[in-house]
Amino acid sequence: AKRHGGNTHRVFVPSYRAVADSRRDLIRDLREAIQTQSITLYYQPIINAQTRHLAGFEALARWTHPILGPIPPDRFIRLAEEAGLMHDLGYALLAEACCTARTWPQNLWVSVNISVDQLYHRSFVQEVRKILKETSYPPKRLQLEVIETIFMESDAATYGVLQELDALGVRIVLDDFGKGYSSLGYLRFFPFSKIKLDASFVRDMLSDSRSAAIVSAVIALAGDLGVAVTAEGVETEEYFHRLSNKGCTEVQGYLFGYPMPKERVASFIALNSRR
Ligand code: C2E
Ligand code: CA
Ligand code: CA
Ligand code: CA
Repeated sequence: AKRHGGNTHRVFVPSYRAVADSRRDLIRDLREAIQTQSITLYYQPIINAQTRHLAGFEALARWTHPILGPIPPDRFIRLAEEAGLMHDLGYALLAEACCTARTWPQNLWVSVNISVDQLYHRSFVQEVRKILKETSYPPKRLQLEVIETIFMESDAATYGVLQELDALGVRIVLDDFGKGYSSLGYLRFFPFSKIKLDASFVRDMLSDSRSAAIVSAVIALAGDLGVAVTAEGVETEEYFHRLSNKGCTEVQGYLFGYPMPKERVASFIALNSRR
């Protein structure tokens, strides 16, 4: 919608055809971006909530379209899944993350988001093994973040894949915990190394006592299960102190650092390392 002074908006309603064309164009551009390795990873620091030391980084995909500018990852990841491109993209990103993290100090890990499509692919475990071998990256320093929708298609198959990854020594993290429905059941059957408490609970915990109660309960539950818990979306000191006092394991958010290109990670590590 284009603004024409005052409150009047002239709304352009694209035809179905125009939408279909632009979607097809975007998929074509996405395919090309994957082939030319124009989709890159940024890395966001994750901090130990008790010691305040740097613990590792989450890898987050970035795509700047030559004409449209930055496309949000939520959007192009979904598009890649719908267009059947996620397997290739996911493989390239995982290899890239391991290659980059190999140059970091040995106490730091990298955490990579894995889409449902990738996990369900027949050769996923084999590919993870191959990437670890080719980049000679220690499995213990790799975390794979999955969301609970991975359990929707087939519980048994999903558990099988997660068990195999676990056997490789890779850590499995349950992302966006609390955003969906019946996460507790999954915690009962699969030994996740870590759960990530969704940013929506964190955001509301200072103003809403129900959200605060849920945050406390999830941290306590994780503690009883022997699972680490990372709080997402930590933007101010007040959130950090509350979460730290509740016994949260790790924190992630703009307070500690924005996602950054790999070139900036080295100086971030140098500035934030224990001496
Ligand atoms: P996510 O996995 O939950 O990632 C966390 C998101 O929160 C990131 O958004 C990050 O930039 C943002 N964030 C971090 N700290 C703060 C904060 O303090 N405040 C706020 N408001 N936001 C914060 P981003 O990078 O836009 O990614 C969005 C989603 O796209 C991710 O959510 C993930 O689901 C998906 N995604 C990103 N990269 C990949 C990837 O390589 N593979 C897959 N499968 N999905 C990805
Ligand atoms: Ca994530
Ligand atoms: Ca998340
Ligand atoms: Ca998400």
